[in-house]
Amino acid sequence: MLELTEARNRIIAAIQPLGFEPVPLFVAHGRFAAETVTSPIDLPVFDNSAMDGYAVDAGDLVPASSEHPICLQLEGKIAAGGIFPGDLPSGKCVRLFTGSRLPSGTNAVVMQEEVRIDPPHANSVWFSAPVHPRENVRLRGEDVKRGAVLVQKGMRLTVGRINLLAAVGLTNLDVARQPTVGLLATGSELREGGQPLGPGEIYESNRTGLSVFLAKLGGKPKIYPLIKDSLADTRAALETAFRECDIIVTSGGVSVGEFDFVKTAFQSIGGTLDFWKVAIRPGKPFVFGQWKEKFLFGLPGNPVSAMVTCLVLVRPAVLRYQGASEAAIPDQWGILAEALSNCGERRHFMRVKVNDEGKVFSAGIQASHSLSSLAEADGVVDVPAQTTLQPGMLVRLLTWD
Ligand code: AMP
Ligand code: MG
Repeated sequence: MLELTEARNRIIAAIQPLGFEPVPLFVAHGRFAAETVTSPIDLPVFDNSAMDGYAVDAGDLVPASSEHPICLQLEGKIAAGGIFPGDLPSGKCVRLFTGSRLPSGTNAVVMQEEVRIDPPHANSVWFSAPVHPRENVRLRGEDVKRGAVLVQKGMRLTVGRINLLAAVGLTNLDVARQPTVGLLATGSELREGGQPLGPGEIYESNRTGLSVFLAKLGGKPKIYPLIKDSLADTRAALETAFRECDIIVTSGGVSVGEFDFVKTAFQSIGGTLDFWKVAIRPGKPFVFGQWKEKFLFGLPGNPVSAMVTCLVLVRPAVLRYQGASEAAIPDQWGILAEALSNCGERRHFMRVKVNDEGKVFSAGIQASHSLSSLAEADGVVDVPAQTTLQPGMLVRLLTWD
């Protein structure tokens, strides 16, 4: 039985990132940059006004005060997108708007609320205070310098990063290809939702839960039909899925029961088992193996075991396929309101919920089939073997969402 860290390291070491593809920025959210992107231009592109107001040479207003205001002659008006031809001579000013390019010969902007214009003399603008050079001016390159790194290779493209890339004029970006993840469920008792249940049957739910989680990470789920517990059916399903997908995630059929066929079916199509069984609870009977350059993740069938192993062992693989530099599971912290006890020999990922005050409670039944406590949970706390975490402790919740 492998320790979790060892299992995860073996998975990550086995996988090579897929290639890349160009995508429009509009659909790049959540994708991972396939290359480091530097800025082709300065931002702002030119010195411009941060306000509606008047561009001046700050030197002209040094002696200005409310007792002795200074009058500058208005030389024109520049809308955003316009330009002032030539140099503005001393003793003059130009009306500007937010985003207007600063005329050469000026170095500051006075807000329009701070000047006075007496109606018959519309071209005489009165200033009653000095202004600092660069006041109300957004300087060329102060936000981003040409050549600065905007996005590192392997970074996830967030809303903010995509906005920045658009602001330097990019429309497309090379991002990592996303792995196609085949989702297979084994079990003769399983039925598709929406159909009546026969005696002894249950609705299949793992493919749905795993699919929405893996899609969020950039996997492209492909759902396969349910597989009866027979060697021939399991074999045929694996063969098809391996031809069509980059990774195969199965659920069920990996224990030691006489109806558990995933391991033997996988080996019979030429797959090699790397390891089976990881020292975690829930989720011990987890299988990892290789078929040609592709991989099998055999998850246990119990729904919570499947979700936990997917979080800690399949998630890193899906990110690794995309060359992602981030690996940490999203988390949240809280203070335990009650003890969390693990008397077992394996670390236990216990379902917990957090209230508005940040107090952490057990989310209910911790058995690996209990879906109500999974639904109730805000995350899981990793409780070491033979350990009780006491009330008042600060704990870290790992989350799927
Ligand atoms: P197994 O790992 O095949 O021994 O299954 C363990 C338990 O999980 C059994 O109670 C199964 O009925 C249940 N189970 C297996 N696969 C699924 C599935 N895809 N959806 C819901 N329950 C499942
Ligand atoms: Mg089964």
